[in-house]
Amino acid sequence: LLAEVNGHSLGTDAQSREPLRGDLQNFLGGETLLHQLDDLTKVNPVTLETVLRCLQARYMTDTFYTNAGCALVALNPFKPVPQLYSPELMREYHAAPQPQKLKPHIFTVGEQTYRNVKSLIEPVNQSIVVSGESGAGKTWTSRCLMKFYAVVASSSTSWESHQVAERIEQRILNSNPVMEAFGNACTLRNNNSSRFGKFIQLQLNGPRAQQMTGAAVQTYLLEKTRVACQTSSERNFHIFYQICKGASADERLQWHLPEGAAFSWLPNPEWTLEEDCFEVTREAMLHLGIDTPTQNNIFKVLAGLLHLGNMQFADSEDEAQPCQLMDCAKWSVKTLASLLQLPRDTLLETLRIRTIKAGRQQQVFRKPCSRAECDTRRDCLAKLVYARLFDWLVSVINSSICADPNAWTTFIGLLDVYGFESFPNNSLEQLCINYANEKLQQHFVAHFLRAQQEEYAVEGLEWSFVNYQDNQSCLDLIEGSPISICSLLNEECRLNRPSSAAQLQTRIESVLAGRPCLGQNKLSREPSFIVVHYAGPVCYHTAGLVEKNKDPVPPELTRLLQQSQDPLLKVLFPTNPKENSQEESSGQSRAPVLTVVSKFKASLEQLLQVLQSTTPHYIRCIKPNSHGQAQTFIREEVLSQLEACGLVETIHISAAGFPIRVSHQNFVDRYELLRRLRLRASSGLHSPSHAKGHSKGPPPAKEATLQSLLQDILHTLPILTRAAATLG
Ligand code: ADP
Ligand code: MG
Repeated sequence: LLAEVNGHSLGTDAQSREPLRGDLQNFLGGETLLHQLDDLTKVNPVTLETVLRCLQARYMTDTFYTNAGCALVALNPFKPVPQLYSPELMREYHAAPQPQKLKPHIFTVGEQTYRNVKSLIEPVNQSIVVSGESGAGKTWTSRCLMKFYAVVASSSTSWESHQVAERIEQRILNSNPVMEAFGNACTLRNNNSSRFGKFIQLQLNGPRAQQMTGAAVQTYLLEKTRVACQTSSERNFHIFYQICKGASADERLQWHLPEGAAFSWLPNPEWTLEEDCFEVTREAMLHLGIDTPTQNNIFKVLAGLLHLGNMQFADSEDEAQPCQLMDCAKWSVKTLASLLQLPRDTLLETLRIRTIKAGRQQQVFRKPCSRAECDTRRDCLAKLVYARLFDWLVSVINSSICADPNAWTTFIGLLDVYGFESFPNNSLEQLCINYANEKLQQHFVAHFLRAQQEEYAVEGLEWSFVNYQDNQSCLDLIEGSPISICSLLNEECRLNRPSSAAQLQTRIESVLAGRPCLGQNKLSREPSFIVVHYAGPVCYHTAGLVEKNKDPVPPELTRLLQQSQDPLLKVLFPTNPKENSQEESSGQSRAPVLTVVSKFKASLEQLLQVLQSTTPHYIRCIKPNSHGQAQTFIREEVLSQLEACGLVETIHISAAGFPIRVSHQNFVDRYELLRRLRLRASSGLHSPSHAKGHSKGPPPAKEATLQSLLQDILHTLPILTRAAATLG
């Protein structure tokens, strides 16, 4: 029986499991066999402890993938495992009649989506949501899946189209090093940490054909503050280090990057592998259609930003006078002006003097900025340029890899987003990330339960679901209308009134009092509030929340950049009146403010709409330890990640459904014999000759075979009877 049910536990409550417990326990035996359980729904009972033990046992035997019902758990090996990602293995999963019967792998998910999307009966767009904390392996997984599709989606094409296909697939793959160079950085938790979320739609010309014809990329929440501010032991985006290390002597001269020059925005300049691949980035850019002069232009602007970072201001003794530049920064300002092709005086003026429009006549007043304000404006200028450059790069990549609308009909979407985050100090970034994860979790639960329910209804099965955690009340608290945390933050931005962190905390506590997912952190000395997420409570500090949400760009900065003679900056900052008013609106006017939260909410809703139109698949990446060490499984660290991704809940939901799905035909083929046996038993005759009397039955089996079959069946009958009783 255990072989038949693949070790699944039957039934949902403890009592109904009882008849099988002994057998399963025998089956599980000891720790040594745990690693053989390739689906966590087979663990009995399903608890954090048992799931953890199973994953640990598998990890220690170099088994990195495990099914968890409807999701796949991927443990980061933290060591090269080339045989696990070879093209041969990709083809093996691709060619398998039933890939889900092979060992759990991301290729099983890949192949499943690929088959679904080109199904002749009902092609449905597919999506794969890859989640996990920083360093868990999301980007690696997405990259491997892209390679998988690049291999299988061109395997059966003719030679001619194969060439074209290879080119587009290669171009799609080339988008990775470029986006990683500009959007990834070395952090404390991952040497190659993506500082943005990414959704890539791989476009296929299905349903019948199998080729990937293009792709479209959408990015979320680039951590642009990193360009001007890196916490200790962290670094700026890889591209800055790549330029400094990889530029030729000639380029160094052009970009004013002498060997050994110190830049304050380039901390910890020891090199890592990711930062050591300027050539790879350039090559990939070239493949994407970004020619060498444009590349040089980009690098020149980035070198300019490094010089901008060296602009240090000194306090002004006279408030009416602008701050002075520190001596060491004088070279930088000259170089910066020449690299960005900006008028030097206007540059200095913009950084040090604020213009304010006031009065009925909208008179313009000029007010020298304090040293801190100068620093903020400098940082803001860098963030503005970098964020625009990144968005522009994404649009260039899209125009290079996106297929003609007529050339594709279906897509497979890959979502690589930050997982749930909870740090000692959480701010707007964590709020947005955790909000996105709440949304994805809701989508996951709703989709999976709905899919199960629909299937059972079609089959005419009676079914009532176990309770699962509904996170709607948490989402109401964060984004609901009319009043929620988001709406309160937006209101503060709109009113543009000075309010302290403590005032914001009081307002949230009073206006949202009584909401089930809102809590207070009585131990925190900082003004804060707690949101009880599905993955656990998170304490958000209110200091700086409103300002971050506003993300103000002084309009003078945009106007300054519009004066640049640099061809790239001209593209990034066109002189467009509409654009100006947009910037100004987020700067200081009373027009409706497009806040960070409202922009994020809109893009999230758009993403969810796309996801809802697809069949989703989930890969939960887990980091076995925070030191990046192979063969090291730290239980506490894995435990908190299992909690954060709601894995036990996922398994419960999966296990609550019928664990075995056998097609009607297969079931009949397998168990028809039992019915016959019962018929014969009731007629009191077991002789093969009597069986001839059944006109509708299959041709009689040879006596010896039948006897051995009967023996087998009689052997398993007691267990079957108990199972049947359990299942009612
Ligand atoms: P995330 O995107 O979740 O932050 P990454 O995908 O960048 O994490 O993975 C972090 C690091 O872990 C990678 O740079 C790589 O060294 C290692 N890694 C992740 N997945 C694998 C894998 N399947 N095999 C080998 N190493 C891996
Ligand atoms: Mg990543």
